[in-house]
Amino acid sequence: MLNSDAQYVEPVFSSDQSDSDGFESLPNDSDLAYDLSIWASQFNIPHNAVKDLLCKLRPDHPLLPKDPRTLLKTKTDYVVKNVGGGSYFHFGLQNVLLTELKSDVYSNQANVTVMRIQMNIDGLPLFKSSNTQFWPILGRTIHPAVSKPFAIGILLGNGKPKNYLCDLIDDINNLTATGLLIPHTGQHIQIKVSCVICDTPARAFVKQSKGHSGHFGCDKCVQKGLYVNHRMTFPDTNSPLRTDVQFDKMTNVEHHIGRSPFLNTNLGLVTQFPLDYMHLVCMGVMKRLLWL
Ligand SMILES: [Zn+2]
Repeated sequence: MLNSDAQYVEPVFSSDQSDSDGFESLPNDSDLAYDLSIWASQFNIPHNAVKDLLCKLRPDHPLLPKDPRTLLKTKTDYVVKNVGGGSYFHFGLQNVLLTELKSDVYSNQANVTVMRIQMNIDGLPLFKSSNTQFWPILGRTIHPAVSKPFAIGILLGNGKPKNYLCDLIDDINNLTATGLLIPHTGQHIQIKVSCVICDTPARAFVKQSKGHSGHFGCDKCVQKGLYVNHRMTFPDTNSPLRTDVQFDKMTNVEHHIGRSPFLNTNLGLVTQFPLDYMHLVCMGVMKRLLWL
């Protein structure tokens, strides 16, 4: 209610108000805040530098937020689950694909009807002094455009996680069955998982199969390995090949150490888990040839 001798009073905002939504109410500061947020994201300005800049600007622009997280609208309500012996956050395959569709890579793609994606799962140690590891699930589209890798989910835990792929498996099954729904247009884009690329230890882990030092450790054929000079070798070049059906039925019991979560999808556990070119060829055979 206005009182009778109403006069213009400089608005006073508590720090809470100005931090959460204050800068949206004054056009000048709002524009400045918007420009600053774009600039900070574009040039990857560290949060402490943005905070310092906001501090210097606030005397003249009191409605700028104090906190860089407010300026950058950093999402803070992440739902982190305790899964597989660690903390897991699932970005969601659907969300990241929708984001990809808005990216520069897809700006020239009209009428996308099918998207093919590759995935990668691996563990990476964070510190030398502890067993803390990240287990990211990454993906990228390879058709109709090749995108940069994006994170689908990340687990932080100690050592190898147990079963943390349930959300991913659900996403794969949902998206391959019903497609990716584009909001507003109602269009469905068909999603196909091309393959899951992992290095040898990670592949054995997600497939729950014997490692490469096991007698039945070969991913592609059924021969029993031969132990030579403290190494497992697979000398037979004409051995019968493994098939997806054999893997599904776990015909060769000695190849498996458990049931792979990917058996709950329609992916081929042999044909869609390729051998890893980077470690085997570039950093393996080629490196050895150069040394010789
Ligand atoms: Zn083989």
